[in-house]
Amino acid sequence: MMENQSNFIKTIMEEDLKNGKHDTIITRFPPEPNGYLHIGHARAIITNFELAKAFGGYTNLRYDDTNPSKEDEEYVRSIENDVRWLGYNPKAIYFASDYFEEMFNRAILLIKKGLAYVDDQTAEEISKTRGDVVTPGIESPYRNRSVEENLELFLNMQKGVYAEGEKVLRAKIDMASTNMNMRDPVLYRISFAYHHNTQDRWKVYPMYDYAHPLEDAIEGITHSLCSLEFEDHRPLYDWVVRETEMPLVPRQIEFGRLGISNTVMSKRFLKYLVDEGLVDGWDDPRMPTLSGLRRKGYTKEAIRAFILGTGLSKVNSEVDPDMLESFVRDDLNNRAKRAFAVIEPLKVTITNYPEGKIEYFEVPYHQDLPELGSRKIAFSKHIYIENEDFLEEKPDKKYKRLSLGNEVRLFHTYFIKANEVVKDSTGKVIEVLATYDVATLSGSGFNERKPDGTIHFVEASTAIPATFNFFGPMLKDDTSLELKERFNKDSMTIKKGYIEQTLLNTPNEEKYQFIRNGFFNCFYDKKTNNHYIFNEIVPLKRSYK
Ligand code: ATP
Ligand code: MG
Ligand code: MG
Repeated sequence: MMENQSNFIKTIMEEDLKNGKHDTIITRFPPEPNGYLHIGHARAIITNFELAKAFGGYTNLRYDDTNPSKEDEEYVRSIENDVRWLGYNPKAIYFASDYFEEMFNRAILLIKKGLAYVDDQTAEEISKTRGDVVTPGIESPYRNRSVEENLELFLNMQKGVYAEGEKVLRAKIDMASTNMNMRDPVLYRISFAYHHNTQDRWKVYPMYDYAHPLEDAIEGITHSLCSLEFEDHRPLYDWVVRETEMPLVPRQIEFGRLGISNTVMSKRFLKYLVDEGLVDGWDDPRMPTLSGLRRKGYTKEAIRAFILGTGLSKVNSEVDPDMLESFVRDDLNNRAKRAFAVIEPLKVTITNYPEGKIEYFEVPYHQDLPELGSRKIAFSKHIYIENEDFLEEKPDKKYKRLSLGNEVRLFHTYFIKANEVVKDSTGKVIEVLATYDVATLSGSGFNERKPDGTIHFVEASTAIPATFNFFGPMLKDDTSLELKERFNKDSMTIKKGYIEQTLLNTPNEEKYQFIRNGFFNCFYDKKTNNHYIFNEIVPLKRSYK
C-alpha cells in the first residue's frame, strides 16, 4: 500500500534512518477516549501504521486520557476494536495516565529550574492577560514566586488543598513571544473528577501541550505525527521535551486533516446526537464513525483505499462523500455475491403455470467470479416483482419494465406477459395476472421476440420477508443552520420486501449486491434474532436507471 506511495513524512523518515538519527521508526496513534473514532481518524491511524510498517518499525496505540471528565471505558474499548478492525495491531497499548507520576516529577524539575510557577489568577484573568498577535501579554503578579514557594504550592495542589480553578501551574517562558502558545502556557490544572484509570489518585492533571510531548518521549516515539492545528504548538512541544531533560527526543510533524463535505466529525457534536437519541448510538449507519460506516457495510479495504487514494498533504483537505462511496462500490463490485431482493413487492400470478409446481435454476452468485459459487433460484406460479417495475400503461417506447399487454424477461427464467390487474378499493394495483411462454426459457437460445426489458423477482412461497434500511445524508446541506437544526430527521427510510430463499440465515455483515438495487449489508439484530435486516451500503452507480 503505502510502500509505493511517497509523501513528505516518508521522506523525513528515510533521511533520519540514512543519517543515523534513528535506527528504527516508532509512531503512535493517540486518540483521546472521549468518543468513537471517525473517518478522519482513519487518516491518522493509516498514516501512522503504514509509515512505520514501511520501514519495519512499529506503532503504539496510546489513549490520551489526560482529561478525566470526558473520558470513558466504553470509548477505550471501541477505539481498540476499530483500530484492529481496520487491520492494524498496535505493538503496545498504553494509557497516558500511566505516566502521570513521571509527568508530575518532571514538572517538579521544571519548578526547580525556575521554569514553572504556580499562578493564582483565574482562568479568565490568565486568558485576558495573554495579549494578542499585536499586543504582548502581561506577566502574572505570581510569576516571580520562589522555587520553594512554588514547590510547596504545587505539592499542595496535588494534595487537594485548593479548589478546582484556584491555582494552576504555568511554564515560565515568554509573555511577549510572537507565538501565543509560548506565553506561559498552563501545564497543570486542578480537577477532582474521577479518572477511569487512576481513579481519585490525582488532583492535578497535565494539559495536552505538556503531557503529549512527554508521552511521546517516554515511549521513544521517533516521529510524532499530528494534525495541522498543532503546528503552532511545535515550539512548545520541543521546549517541554528539552527542559524536562527527556533522554529520547521525538519530532513532531504535522499533516492536513481530512474532512468530508457536509459531514461534521467533531466528537462533541456526534456525542450530542447520541445523547439526544437522534441516532441509534455511535454506530448508527448515518454516523461518520468507523463503527457506523462498518454497520452500514463499508469495508475496511475500501476505507483504506480511500485514505491512501486521497493522499497525505500538509494542508487540510475536504473531499466529497461520493468519492468515499465510489471506493466502497469498487471494492464490493469485485467481491460481493449478487442476489435478488424485491423491495416494495407486487404480487404476480402466472395464470398458465401449474399450481404447486416449483422449478429451480442454478445460477452463479457472480457472473465474473465463479469462486463465489452458485445457488438455486426458484420459480413458480406465484412470484413477487418490484412495485416500481410495473405500470398499467407503457409510458413510452424506452420503458424497460412490465406493463399491460407487454412482455419482460425475468432474469434466468422466462418471458412473462402482463394481461390483467387486480386492484384494491382505492384503485391501487395489488396483483398482476400474467402468462409465461415456456419457449423463452433462459439459455434456450430463443430469439423470436424481444422483451421490453429484464427484471428480477423472487418466488413467493420460498421468499424470506426482509427489511431494508436506506440512509441519506445525516445533515441538511444548509450550513447556515445551527448544528442541532442541521440534523436531518428524514435521513433514514425503512422499506419492506423479500429476499431469495438462498439467503437463509445470512450471517451478520455479509454483503450482497441486490441486482438492480444496490449493495446491502446484513445487519443481524441480536435482540430479535433477525437475520433479515439489510442496510443499504451504496446504491449502484448514480447514473443507473
Ligand atoms: P475531534 O475534534 O473529532 O474530537 P480530535 O483531534 O480531538 O478529534 P483525537 O482523539 O485527539 O481527536 O485524535 C487522535 C488523532 O487523530 C490526533 O492525532 C488527531 O490529529 C487525528 N485526527 C483527528 N481527526 C482527524 C482528521 N479529520 N483528519 C486527520 N487526522 C485526524
Ligand atoms: Mg478532541
Ligand atoms: Mg485531540
